[in-house]
Amino acid sequence: MKNLRILIPKDPAIENCPNCNASGRLRRSRRRTSLEGFIKTFTMFNIYRCKSCDWRGYKSGYHITKTSFKTLGIYLLVALISGMIIRVIISKFVVK
Ligand SMILES: [Zn+2]
Repeated sequence: MKNLRILIPKDPAIENCPNCNASGRLRRSRRRTSLEGFIKTFTMFNIYRCKSCDWRGYKSGYHITKTSFKTLGIYLLVALISGMIIRVIISKFVVK
């Protein structure tokens, strides 16, 4: 089976800086406020800092590809077909 993940993990540390476009200069940054801690814990974003220009901001550790949408479509189709089958079974075997 091929990769069935919707969110593909990536490492933002090897990406270019959004501010100065330097490559390989992003490093994980420590959280400063409780809001940053909340975002770090409950979302897929982490705080990064650029070693070249001191830019500091959020970057996601995942990305979505064209395959992600296909996989999502397959999941939805399977869910829909399962729902239809269950509905038929219930309507046949449940006495009204
Ligand atoms: Zn930078």
